[in-house]
Amino acid sequence: MKKILLCKENDERETRTALIPADIKKLIQMGFEITAVKGTGEKSGIADSEYEAAGAKLVSSNEEGYKGAEIVLRIMKPESIDGIEKGALHLSYLDPFNERELLDKMASAGLQAVSLEMIPRTTLAQKMDVQSSQTSLAGYAAVVNAAARLPKILPMMVTPSGTINPARVFIIGVGVAGLQAIATAKRLGARVDAFDTRPVVEEQVKSLGASFVKIDLGEMGQTDQGYAKELTPEQIKKQQEAQAKVCERSDIVITTAKVFGRKAPRLISKDVIDRMKKGAVIVDMAVSTGGNVEGSKLFEEVVTENGVIIMSGDMLERQVPVDASKMLSGNFTAFLTHFYNKETKELDVRLDDEIMKGCLLTQGGSIIHERFK
Ligand code: NAD
Repeated sequence: MKKILLCKENDERETRTALIPADIKKLIQMGFEITAVKGTGEKSGIADSEYEAAGAKLVSSNEEGYKGAEIVLRIMKPESIDGIEKGALHLSYLDPFNERELLDKMASAGLQAVSLEMIPRTTLAQKMDVQSSQTSLAGYAAVVNAAARLPKILPMMVTPSGTINPARVFIIGVGVAGLQAIATAKRLGARVDAFDTRPVVEEQVKSLGASFVKIDLGEMGQTDQGYAKELTPEQIKKQQEAQAKVCERSDIVITTAKVFGRKAPRLISKDVIDRMKKGAVIVDMAVSTGGNVEGSKLFEEVVTENGVIIMSGDMLERQVPVDASKMLSGNFTAFLTHFYNKETKELDVRLDDEIMKGCLLTQGGSIIHERFK
């Protein structure tokens, strides 16, 4: 397996590409053959001629490229898999917990489908971890968006005309996105509070110069992959009450709380929003998985009756496609390199490898992953 197709994304809102020319050059030198669909890099500022100069062959459409492609790369889940050849290794996000039908189709078509979401969170796989590379950019963008929308500035200013107090930012959920949001808000001069149900996070929050909001919810913690454990309804109620006061005094609230493979917890209800300041901004980064915030809408901004602005925080990495594509391309390149066999000059789908075992969902006509069988 060495013939790679770099697809063009179908979603109009998508701005990123899965491979940039610098990495294409490296992969070709290694022994891969690469075909790219025209226009794939356009929104990341990369011209077709740059792909060609890096050694890629160009085709006009995904469908044209599927012929002969042994490895198919794209970012978002495919709208259609028609034309992809049997046995091809297909790499993309698959949203596997919600896309049973797609998994069945990919299995029936004899594809070897890799789900980017399922790449294990191990030290070895860190450089392939698209979740981390993309959500950290999203955490940055969330703060920048909120700051631009807020009717006040973030830093403290002491001037002859008067003193301005720093804005207060509250980050709920301090994983990859939350940490980057804290760092960004601090750089902009805000006073930052943060909370997460995983107790290990407190140290990280403090090391970034933010305050950790202490809420005792009893049994909390994390899975061996570093993900939060799901809370009981009673624990969520307790959390909502305890953090309400922090929300009320905050100018910006950014929520990133997710539970892997499950619906996101509802953490901010309307009655708390009703008590927040006019002009305060909330960014719900869990909006596509159920939403942390009552009333948040995917890809839309909502202004409540009392003037609180609720912004959609989904896929914010698409606002910075130059960096997002560079990091994604690094992730894909690391994956392809890891499974490349220098002797045969082919990519091996090695199921005895923990990384492949963790993220390969279909093979030989069936769903093979334990979690989705
Ligand atoms: P995520 O996107 O699943 O969740 C975001 C955050 O929300 C997490 O920190 C989670 O604890 C938190 N959360 C869940 N429920 C909450 C609630 N009710 N209230 C407040 N917060 C809540 O997680 P993530 O950002 O992808 O990463 C989680 C952890 O995994 C991080 O510590 C990260 O450093 C670690 N990680 C490790 C590796 C690796 O070892 N290779 C790679 C990536 C991430």
